[in-house]
Amino acid sequence: MKITAVRAHLLEHRLSVPFESASMRFDRRLHVLVEIVCDDGTIGWGECLGPAKANAAVVETYAGWLIGENPLETEKIWAKLYNALRDQGQRGLTLTALSGIDIALWDIKGKHFGVPVSTLLGGRFRESVRAYATGSFKRDGVNRVEDNAKEAARYRAEGFHASKIKIGFGVAEDLQVIRAVREAIGPDMRLMIDANHGYGVLEAIELGRKAAEYNIDWFEEPVVPEQLAAYREVRAKQPIPVAGGETWHSRWGMKEPLETRAVDIIQPDLCGVGGFTEARRVADFASIHGVRVVPHVWGTAVQIAAALQFMASMVPDPVRTNPVEPILEFDRTDNPYRQAIVKTPLEHVNGVVSIPNAPGLGIEINRDALAEFRLKEA
Ligand SMILES: [Mg+2]
Repeated sequence: MKITAVRAHLLEHRLSVPFESASMRFDRRLHVLVEIVCDDGTIGWGECLGPAKANAAVVETYAGWLIGENPLETEKIWAKLYNALRDQGQRGLTLTALSGIDIALWDIKGKHFGVPVSTLLGGRFRESVRAYATGSFKRDGVNRVEDNAKEAARYRAEGFHASKIKIGFGVAEDLQVIRAVREAIGPDMRLMIDANHGYGVLEAIELGRKAAEYNIDWFEEPVVPEQLAAYREVRAKQPIPVAGGETWHSRWGMKEPLETRAVDIIQPDLCGVGGFTEARRVADFASIHGVRVVPHVWGTAVQIAAALQFMASMVPDPVRTNPVEPILEFDRTDNPYRQAIVKTPLEHVNGVVSIPNAPGLGIEINRDALAEFRLKEA
């Protein structure tokens, strides 16, 4: 079995209402899928996190080293591609592009052996996961406090048990938003806050101390990801558990945050950390250090499918009769191609998402949707 072609598919949707996190403005959704074709007709799909065009360029660079390789040799290919760009590429786009390729290779491997990726990873501990709604960005032209409260109440009505809201716009306004959201969703629904590394360490500590009374499950990316000492300080000086990891790439990028316990919850992204090959190592390291794993998800159904396969295989830590179960990040913001690109959407029912058990990622790509949402400009 040999790889014969590697393609990147750029997808775009222009937003009618732009929105912002603390660190990024979105006026369109732009994602890139990776398609790997084999000589026996098997096709695998992956996705890369982050700037789509730049990822596509790196995927194209890797493609030259992929053609002719045996796609079942995922570990060997990972090492070869990583080494090819290692000197200038130990973090960042080299890893996000490699992640998309690795996911596509595992999809091929599952299809070849006729089992879901979760079985290849060691088995399925669960057939479904509870999802948490991610949304509540700062949207143009509306009152953020009222808008976020209304949105979170909608998620509760849809059956979600948890919701994550965006902060990092200023301590005073963020506290108003958190208070209004907690009032809107009641005392029982879980609530997380995500600063998208918008705060300095003093602001993060102040916010954490004042927000704790609203019963917050975790405080995500309080400070920029390079400042691990600041992460540890935030963790030590305010009471909310600290989460992070969506921008820490590879086992080496995860090493210090885990060893020094910079976070209570680590959030590897399958499409950024290095695909299944690397995510499983990170989960093992996290288990050594007693850090909870909650994968980060921000993409199309391909990424959601990859996260679901990985989550199916996550070993409960600790193993017990009623273990703490992983929860799925479920982006609710405007993106019509998120589910349109697969023939069977990975939707939630009452806040619960079933994990596909068909071979590979367990999804079938809808090529009509790829054509419909293809990026039009070069
Ligand atoms: Mg985040």
